[in-house]
Amino acid sequence: MPIIGVINQKGGVGKTTTAVNLSAALAERRNVLLVDLDPQANASSGVGLTEPERTVYDVIAGRASARQAVSRTATAQLDLLAASADLAGAAVELDASRDSMLLLARGLIGVRPNYDFIVIDAPPSVGALTLNALAAADLLIVPLQTEYYALEGIASMMETIERVRGSLNSDLRILGILLTMYDGRTRLSQEVEENVRRHFGELVFDTVIPRTVRLAEAPSYGQSVLDYAPTSHGAVAYQALAEEVIERVSQG
Ligand code: ADP
Ligand code: MG
Repeated sequence: MPIIGVINQKGGVGKTTTAVNLSAALAERRNVLLVDLDPQANASSGVGLTEPERTVYDVIAGRASARQAVSRTATAQLDLLAASADLAGAAVELDASRDSMLLLARGLIGVRPNYDFIVIDAPPSVGALTLNALAAADLLIVPLQTEYYALEGIASMMETIERVRGSLNSDLRILGILLTMYDGRTRLSQEVEENVRRHFGELVFDTVIPRTVRLAEAPSYGQSVLDYAPTSHGAVAYQALAEEVIERVSQG
């Protein structure tokens, strides 16, 4: 079953929010491993793990197998390969060799059979960690914040993905583009949605993630929005996204 990278080199577009809540929604249906590849470790704390014993850095550095480094979370069927601040060191230590870019992909091979979905929360910017995420993933979800500059930077990201396809990971493809932080009260959000759908067509998920305060609050309780506010618009949206992801994946 697939490894899905949540990728956008821009920060603050909803990558971590999507990785955490999509993982939690998928975990109600399937076995899921969430991999936190951002030194800020927001996905880890977002599912309640602030002091993990082992982290993804141990895997990348060859100090532990992924199986040894995985933590359970409070959510059934959701495991975490946590991040910690020292992961920023890995980004600096890794050289630009092909082997360095394949460390995560190789590290995940051993745990792959244990999960139906592996979801990677990638850091912003294009560095060694993001390239490791792109090399490990089969499929990508690209969150776009529904704002005027949504498409800014997307061309260079598509080029990066093309480059990775040509070198590290020929099977990599985009599962879908996800509009996040949609504010239905504004004309701007509607215009941006129309524009993105015109530009990317079928690639854009039907599901749109609304801007809601519950999604912003949940991480401070170490909970996904599904636990924190299960009937909120944000929870309903991420449930719908999980259904759409399962459907797209099963259609191949
Ligand atoms: P990224 O991982 O791309 O940097 P985050 O998921 O951390 O982005 O989101 C950036 C900020 O926006 C966070 O404070 C988060 O809580 C908030 N946020 C993300 N998605 C939403 C949303 N749909 N509604 C409201 N706030 C959101
Ligand atoms: Mg993030």
